[in-house]
Amino acid sequence: MKNLLCPQCKIRRFYVLNAVGERLVVTVTEDKEIHPIHEAESLDGFDTSLLYCLGCSWKGTVNMLTDKF
Ligand SMILES: [Zn+2]
Repeated sequence: MKNLLCPQCKIRRFYVLNAVGERLVVTVTEDKEIHPIHEAESLDGFDTSLLYCLGCSWKGTVNMLTDKF
């Protein structure tokens, strides 16, 4: 499945934060599902309502991502 992209810099990697500020790197598929890039990792405890782009200063929700370059 295709990954959704940052609306500003068009990369596909983001991170989410947990309560102690740890980052988990994720991608988001077209169906707006958030997936850790490493299969062994879990989203447990991470706030998936806000995504931070790894490539620029963008942050926002899955609904703000784009599938177009
Ligand atoms: Zn970006």
